[in-house]
Amino acid sequence: MDDLERLADDIRDAATVVAFTGAGISQPSGVPTFRGDDGVWEKFDEGQFTYGRFQRDPVGFWADRVELQRVMFDEEYEPNAAHEALAELGRDGSLEAILTQNTDGLHGEAATSAREGGTDETTILELHGNSQRVRCIDCGKRADGDSIFERAADGELPPTCDCGGVYKPDVVLFGEQLSGAVIQRARSLAQESDVFLAIGSSLVVEPAASLPRLATSSGATVGIVNLESTPIDGSADVVVREDVTDVLPEIRALVEK
Ligand SMILES: [Zn+2]
Repeated sequence: MDDLERLADDIRDAATVVAFTGAGISQPSGVPTFRGDDGVWEKFDEGQFTYGRFQRDPVGFWADRVELQRVMFDEEYEPNAAHEALAELGRDGSLEAILTQNTDGLHGEAATSAREGGTDETTILELHGNSQRVRCIDCGKRADGDSIFERAADGELPPTCDCGGVYKPDVVLFGEQLSGAVIQRARSLAQESDVFLAIGSSLVVEPAASLPRLATSSGATVGIVNLESTPIDGSADVVVREDVTDVLPEIRALVEK
């Protein structure tokens, strides 16, 4: 029996399956990465997008942020076969939660498409927020980012909520803490999982590095799907260094068999 079949068997037998995803799952959709030679931070100075600057200089922050959004989202990105496979596993009751480092919202979009004709109770935990949304720093109201980014591009700097509060992109900025509640939830899910799949993440930065370790230490089967090696490979049960858009649909098909 090969590795993927064993993984699929474990998923079928598991009470709780949790997937953790990083930039590598969105790369095939064309979403630009932040780091690396072609990364967004080669074109922009990441120091302009800190939480400190947002607080000090919301006008300048938003002017630069509009430009960043324009470059990053100059085209519409679509969920790819890997997002879809996870969404289908979720819809069919084989996946409890998706924890993601990505802010592109593609897991949510894939889940919405997959849900048609079924029920889907998969939890999607966006650890770093969602760049397609904004949030008022005073009343906490969230709004769809498109219209707010448009208002900012038209000169409303910074864009504000009906209550008068300034809108902030609903993502975790440099220098801003990840939500403690969200991290706690992610850790609990990793600990509860019987199967933990880490997909498209180098598993280097926190909390990505510690979640698979938590899963391992509570006895979960840990599977890693990533093109490059990760520091967790040695303790994982299954390591697959192939394209996520090939591997995830294959796992999904084996689970359904
Ligand atoms: Zn408000």
